[in-house]
Amino acid sequence: MKYKYQPNVHIIDYKILKEMFAFDDKGEFETDDPKLIEWIKKNKPFLKPQEQEKPIDEKIYKCKKCDFESTDKMAYVTHCRIHKKR
Ligand SMILES: [Zn+2]
Repeated sequence: MKYKYQPNVHIIDYKILKEMFAFDDKGEFETDDPKLIEWIKKNKPFLKPQEQEKPIDEKIYKCKKCDFESTDKMAYVTHCRIHKKR
C-alpha cells in the first residue's frame, strides 16, 4: 500500500508514544506490512492508501457535474443520464 500525505510528517501512535513511520520529503510512504496497514486503518483513518496507478494511455471519462470518473465508456454514459433526469 502506498500512502500520500504531507511531506516529512511523522506518524505517532499516541497510546504507546512510538513513531510508527514517517512520510518522505515527497509526502509518500509505502508499506506491505499487513499489521501496519490495519493499524493505519483503525488509528489514522484520514490516511487513505493510493489506488494502483493507471496506465497513462487509458482514457478516463470524467463527469462534468460531479466527481464520477470511469475508464469504461458505457459506465460513464450510463452515469451521465442520472444528471439529465433532474
Ligand atoms: Zn456525475
